[in-house]
Amino acid sequence: MNAALQDRLRSELDARRAAAGLRRDLVVSGPQGPTVGMDGETLVNLAANDYLGLAAAPEVLESARRALRGMGLGVSAGRVLCGSREIHGELEAGIAELVGAEDAVLYTSCFDANLGVFDALLGQEDVVFSDALNHASLIDGMRLASARRHVFAHADLDDLERLLAGSADARNRVIVTDGVFSMDGEIAALPRLRELARRYDAALMVDDSHATGVLGPTGAGTAERFGLHGGVDVLTGTLGKALGAAGGFVAGDRAVVETLRQVSRPYVFTNAMAPPLAAAALTAIRLVRERPELRERLAANTAWLRAALRDLGYKVLPGDHPIIPVMLPGGTAARDVASAVRRDGVLAFALSHPVVPVGEERIRVQVSAAHTIDQLELAAAAFGRARAVLAGS
Ligand SMILES: *Cc1c(COP(=O)(O)O)cnc(C)c1O
Repeated sequence: MNAALQDRLRSELDARRAAAGLRRDLVVSGPQGPTVGMDGETLVNLAANDYLGLAAAPEVLESARRALRGMGLGVSAGRVLCGSREIHGELEAGIAELVGAEDAVLYTSCFDANLGVFDALLGQEDVVFSDALNHASLIDGMRLASARRHVFAHADLDDLERLLAGSADARNRVIVTDGVFSMDGEIAALPRLRELARRYDAALMVDDSHATGVLGPTGAGTAERFGLHGGVDVLTGTLGKALGAAGGFVAGDRAVVETLRQVSRPYVFTNAMAPPLAAAALTAIRLVRERPELRERLAANTAWLRAALRDLGYKVLPGDHPIIPVMLPGGTAARDVASAVRRDGVLAFALSHPVVPVGEERIRVQVSAAHTIDQLELAAAAFGRARAVLAGS
């Protein structure tokens, strides 16, 4: 190891350790689900994005097994070489149908989709307008592209309009937002964003990672929730949250999708998605369509836990998304409560700076349709006992 590089990295790690402590990956055992195994214990899992409980659904896992038997695991080639299988095209058609788009294209993850979409569709004559709280992958994707970038204050449509009005010289304009903001479950005001986009001849791009399968009567996502099914020009999303598999996609009209297939670097220069993952995601999409009761159960579980936490005296940001932000601002309150419920058999993460602003520390609780009422009651009881930690601080 080069000593100069090693010395610098070690001293930077020491500084980081001293300032905020080092992040440690939590290691759980067994499958993802409403409970997870950890250190020989079983914890109620309020930390996963498995909103519909599809990660461990028998039908999803069986379709992956069947694909594994028929096609193997890795394909050792990109889509543009000999990596494509029929299942990839079927999944792309399934995604397009779900979200109400003409077509869709797969990526290895939504992070990759967001890295690949801006540079492929836009040039230096174009301008992107980005919400200040957009996901890191959108920010990195915009950095990789030559288009100019304007950041508007979070959900501030006046600020956005001011920026739109000031860039009349642009060839194309694109407004970019998360459909659901992952730190607080807040849903973007798509009707007003779309209206502004119309007025300024801009395209609307939405990253619907926390909404696909979750929001709207058929699980089509944020647009459908507002009665605007198919009303987004460029939609990116993940197969790794509510759909319980892994992978990402971009959906839109044929010209968008065909352009990405031709020139999007994380599509062209990487291996095709493993066929068992594609098969699992396709089955998950079928279950999203065939089992609306999963979304009903998710809504009921979310409403129950939100009310229970509020009744215990916690400040919960309003909303109805299964991301429940429990606000515990200042000092170590969020971390202390997360540690207390963890000792009591409940897994939920505290978020602090730099993930959220100083003074907005919180615990992010995430609900699944797979949680039983017993599990939710156990979680609420743990949060109730944890209030003693707050009283003592
Ligand atoms: C989780 C998430 C991603 C990344 O999705 P992966 O498929 O896991 O890479 C991208 N954007 C948003 C808004 C997300 O929440």
